[in-house]
Amino acid sequence: MNKSTIGLADIFSARKRIAGQIESTALVQSPSLSQSCGNDVFLKLEHRQITGSFKLRGASNAIAMLDRQKAENGVVAASTGNHGRALAYAAKQAGVASTICMSRLVPSNKVEEIRKLGAEIRIVGDSQDDAQVEVERLVAEEGMTMLPPFDHAAIIAGQGTLGLEIIEALPDVATVLVPVSGGGLAAGVAAAVKGISASTKVIGISMERGAAMSASLAAQKPVQVREEVSLADSLGGGIGLDNRFTFSMCQDLLDEVILLSEAEIAEGIRHIYAQEREIVEGAAAVGVAALLAGKIHSNGPVVSILSGRNIDMALHRRVINGENPFAGDEVA
Ligand SMILES: *Cc1c(COP(=O)(O)O)cnc(C)c1O
Repeated sequence: MNKSTIGLADIFSARKRIAGQIESTALVQSPSLSQSCGNDVFLKLEHRQITGSFKLRGASNAIAMLDRQKAENGVVAASTGNHGRALAYAAKQAGVASTICMSRLVPSNKVEEIRKLGAEIRIVGDSQDDAQVEVERLVAEEGMTMLPPFDHAAIIAGQGTLGLEIIEALPDVATVLVPVSGGGLAAGVAAAVKGISASTKVIGISMERGAAMSASLAAQKPVQVREEVSLADSLGGGIGLDNRFTFSMCQDLLDEVILLSEAEIAEGIRHIYAQEREIVEGAAAVGVAALLAGKIHSNGPVVSILSGRNIDMALHRRVINGENPFAGDEVA
């Protein structure tokens, strides 16, 4: 059977499989947002997850589902961001070798962080595309398994465990705010939340600059968008023109997708720091940013997912100080 959707049963199985390997993160009320929004607002503190993002849930589940033979050959990916970190860590925990392919242009501190988490690093070529070619070679010639960041059944089911934690902790939640890039998080969380509470709304949030899922939903098919620099760097990249799972799941399950300006995202990061006393990356701030911008209308309790914390601290400081965030050296 060619199943192209993930349901509650897959997500419950994923939870059993990854129990003990991930943290169940806290859900806390935000007094300031509850007061300003007129609904109880809760924050899911997933930026405190091991490796600094929810990506560990999907990576741990996908590695646990490999058959023994495949596992012996190791796993591979081209991600230099949160998926790469999560995959390196989850593989090491499971005693599986991992290889992360990167281009020469990836900053050395990023390379070292992923190496320290236990991955073998392959530096190839001058672009993400060159790195992806090497991934495909390792799959073809060395029998490694490529684990992509979002469009994969086991990854989506793993991310869905975050939705289970939300709906179990707050059964009467009316609206869940989810950051969206490739849509693995949104698809998994929406499948979990709506599987248990059909009336709960799940709203996806992206940045105005280069929102591939939003553009694809509007076009009713996967489309490419131009990549642009954004404070929400973890939300960049396409959804894949040959998308198998996340596009149709987001089409079916998301009630709405909202886009935010860079200034709105910056305000979200600042609020989360100054009022909630948490340090998050831009991608994680979009739910709070949408609330602050008055773009969310809910008829009951709201949960916003703080999805990750891996922000360059010099960039964070500039945002907090209200300076031009891109005056520094992050932008090539
Ligand atoms: C990957 C990521 C997202 C988006 O997840 P998708 O499954 O690609 O939609 C959001 N926030 C953070 C911090 C991420 O690392």
